[in-house]
Amino acid sequence: MARLIYLDNNATTRPLDAVVEAMLPFMREQYANPSSVHRFGQSVRHQVELAREKVAALIGASAKEITFTSGGTEAINLAVRGTLAVRPERRHVITTAVEHSAVRKLCSRLGEEGYDVDEVGVNGDGCVDPEEITSRLRDETAIVSVMHANNETGVLFDVERIAAVCSDRGVPLHVDAVQSAGKVPLDVGSLPATMLTLSAHKLHGPKGVGALYVRSGTRLEPLMLGGGQERGLRGGTENVAAIVGMGVAAKAAMGDAEVVRARMKSLRDLLEDGLRRVSPGARVIAGNVDRLCNTLNVAFAGIQAEAILLLLSEAGICASSGSACSSGSIELSHVLQAMGIEERLARGAVRFSLSSLTTRAEIDQVISTVARLLSRLGAT
Ligand code: PLP
Repeated sequence: MARLIYLDNNATTRPLDAVVEAMLPFMREQYANPSSVHRFGQSVRHQVELAREKVAALIGASAKEITFTSGGTEAINLAVRGTLAVRPERRHVITTAVEHSAVRKLCSRLGEEGYDVDEVGVNGDGCVDPEEITSRLRDETAIVSVMHANNETGVLFDVERIAAVCSDRGVPLHVDAVQSAGKVPLDVGSLPATMLTLSAHKLHGPKGVGALYVRSGTRLEPLMLGGGQERGLRGGTENVAAIVGMGVAAKAAMGDAEVVRARMKSLRDLLEDGLRRVSPGARVIAGNVDRLCNTLNVAFAGIQAEAILLLLSEAGICASSGSACSSGSIELSHVLQAMGIEERLARGAVRFSLSSLTTRAEIDQVISTVARLLSRLGAT
């Protein structure tokens, strides 16, 4: 089989060799429970705490503000449900129309449970207006939960302004930074968010581990009750190997970050220009606004994204679309729908997401492959 060209890094990333190497000893020799009092256990505990420091450093937090979870989804649920449980009299929740399903499905369940969920829309570029969030804040608002970067379009929200308003009004803000961490500088010193979610597998770490940053002094109820691990916020014996892997990935994301991001952006821009050239009718979604350096969402009018993805896959190229297949029919992406993108375009939207491992040769090959398959589909 030809070498795989992996441009689906917003779905997941390849774990770095250094990550895998660092994890292995914790599945072989260093298997002690970090809660055990013997020296063996305490040496493992030490490694968990070192990983916590590394993850904290990625976002300018202190180690005690980091709680390890089983991933982004659990961290999001802990942030939102944990906050609601602290002040049960507050029944109003604000979120946006383009959140990842971890937030969307949770909020829709909250609606069924009787919470008043306010979903703020986005404009045609996928941007949310911070004023719109401000105008919805009420005395009984329990939490605002917004993403930093959208997983489908890469659009970056103005979380600084949203955080400033929430902080002024004393309303807890949770930021889903799963897609932005490692690709955008993040510093909770200057960003007054109350909580922030991270996921290791989006930054070349292992799957099934994430972290919730909880600002010092914030009260939160645990979802998972158990042995009192993670200062009582998340019971359950720690996934030590994965936590250590996440620490290594977080540290790697900080080294040379500016250079790596500039390189990713220039390759993404090359891909964008190349695809525009081979398909002049294609539309770059959110092409004129602040977005992640690695993400390109391009809509080929009149073609089904699935047809393109299948042919790309046959050529060894991995990309994705925002649409979901449910019970035999293809559901349109809720993100593109919220942006008001016409159906003909939205159905042909393909997301290419690069990583620091992407090469120039791969980008050139993707452009020529897309040119070939578009003519096969009769689209040029
Ligand atoms: N939030 C965003 C924006 C995501 O893109 C994802 C994963 O795709 C998640 C949350 C969920 O993270 P995890 O896969 O670690 O549960």
